[in-house]
Amino acid sequence: MNELTCPPRSLLYPLEPIGVGTADVESLASFFCRVAASHCVSSTDLLHRISKMCGWAAPPKNFWKDTNLSGMGDVAERYACALSEMTSVEHLDLLTLRLWRNVIAHRSKAPAKGRWCAACFEEDLANGRMPYFRLAWDVGDIDACAKHGARLPDACSDCGRTGARNNAACVVPGWCCYCGAPLGRVQAAHASAPAAETWKAAQVGQLLAAQASISSVPDRCNVTEGLRKLVDELDGGKSARFAQRIGANKSTVHWWLQQGGVPTLAAHLRIASQTGVSLVALLTGVIDDSIPILRAGPSLAELFPDYKKRASPHRRDSTDIDAKMDELRQSDVAVSVSEAARRMKVRRRQLYRVENEKSRVIAAKWTAHQRHCSEQHRLEAVRAIEAAVEDILSRGKAPNLREVQQLVPREVLGGVRGVFAMIQEASAKIEASRSATWP
Ligand SMILES: [Zn+2]
Ligand SMILES: [Zn+2]
Repeated sequence: MNELTCPPRSLLYPLEPIGVGTADVESLASFFCRVAASHCVSSTDLLHRISKMCGWAAPPKNFWKDTNLSGMGDVAERYACALSEMTSVEHLDLLTLRLWRNVIAHRSKAPAKGRWCAACFEEDLANGRMPYFRLAWDVGDIDACAKHGARLPDACSDCGRTGARNNAACVVPGWCCYCGAPLGRVQAAHASAPAAETWKAAQVGQLLAAQASISSVPDRCNVTEGLRKLVDELDGGKSARFAQRIGANKSTVHWWLQQGGVPTLAAHLRIASQTGVSLVALLTGVIDDSIPILRAGPSLAELFPDYKKRASPHRRDSTDIDAKMDELRQSDVAVSVSEAARRMKVRRRQLYRVENEKSRVIAAKWTAHQRHCSEQHRLEAVRAIEAAVEDILSRGKAPNLREVQQLVPREVLGGVRGVFAMIQEASAKIEASRSATWP
């Protein structure tokens, strides 16, 4: 008798991760948001359910701000395991940087905010698929998209707010969490990135593409051996000369070679740029005997403008700031104080200090504008939901979130809170008006 094979049952839909084995691999945060959206639950709901199921403490309020789900830390592993178990989709750790935990220092720079590439979102839509977040966007030392050579913005060009990508209870990847504007639209943030930034992004892209085919966790000893080989062959075994080559302190190189220290991602990129060995080869310790000596790569100054020598905050004379603040205060277009500070190349705090009263007026105007926009957006959503509910009821169906989502464009529903209650209100209103018309 033939045995029937059934796919294993899972608690949540087994969504397929996007782009595994390519530089465009999806991030775990993106997978998480897609799982939540496919079950019509908010990300907060899903977070609480996972915590409850795994017996963890309730997630903190600022979870998305403080947690890097796609990083190298334990939290990435815990969520990858929990989601694997609940969806029956294996190897979700490939959507994180966890594989590199032994060979990249954990104190490597992490991105402060959720960033994206507008061109990648546009490309997703043009190819008829749901936009998703790339793992590469959550790598701290990367500021560009290798594919499009564009900078990665972190603020919505419509409302100017950061956290627009996924800092919300209901996330629709590709649309601003606050104002619902499409993040893939051609915008100023589409500005092209310097070649050195694109080079770094390409190196990390190769790393992400390779991680699906690496069977064991890369070992720190292999990396140290690889570094020793580079020091021997390129600089005659002199670690001080090697340190000079890569623009690092000689005690740092000594620490890597003699004391088991692990370089940060930025340091690995420095080494790759000045030795001609790719980032993947450095981190896996697979360095050919014939080491290419690369001189065509970007210079250290281009790759890592020394942070100590970075220009100090721009100082402007107070009359200039005063005039600009007056202009902004009287303008019809509201901007946030952060945006005003950015335009004047000073810090927000500095602006409050030197122009406190005007800053407060600008902040109040911005808050009122935000409130007005969100009210307009909500009214638009209410009208669209009412029309959708009427349509669903006229077809003899029960209005629910899934049905409504099929009829109302994502940009109208995106970022609106309390959609369930709005559907119920619309149903009650329509039922009431019908029973009044048809006695
Ligand atoms: Zn891109
Ligand atoms: Zn926005």
